[in-house]
Amino acid sequence: MNPELKSLYQEVILDHNRNPRNFRRMDDADASLEGFNPLCGDRYTFFVKMDGERIVDVAFKGSGCAISKASASVMGALLKGKTKSEADAMFTQFHELVTGKLDAEAHADALGKLAAFGGVSEFPARVKCASLPWHTMHGLLGSQREPVSTE
Ligand code: ZN
Repeated sequence: MNPELKSLYQEVILDHNRNPRNFRRMDDADASLEGFNPLCGDRYTFFVKMDGERIVDVAFKGSGCAISKASASVMGALLKGKTKSEADAMFTQFHELVTGKLDAEAHADALGKLAAFGGVSEFPARVKCASLPWHTMHGLLGSQREPVSTE
């Protein structure tokens, strides 16, 4: 990856870790679900508010490493206003990105800020940190009520 792009992506992660978006408890949520990554200690509760099939609002609370927190923050900002099936497509895209099946640089325009997480595919332990928010949200939108664990 070219160094300029790499530093831009690092800046996205640092920014979202320092100032996570939608980082709050949502008292009027339609549903919430806890996600846990025992390998790193990342633990978050995700909240969602729906209007039919459309995601109206997303929030999360909890604690974890910079990668997991930034991933949750970017995810929430991207999912607001999307339908469940659009969210499913993004979940698949993100999974392919962090497992190295999708090249971040080649798809930078389509991926937007998600591309910032392309670098984690080189660090298997970090893949679970980046994926935890997406796995949990996927379960939440699929009406799962058992907490999500990456193990
Ligand atoms: Zn982590």
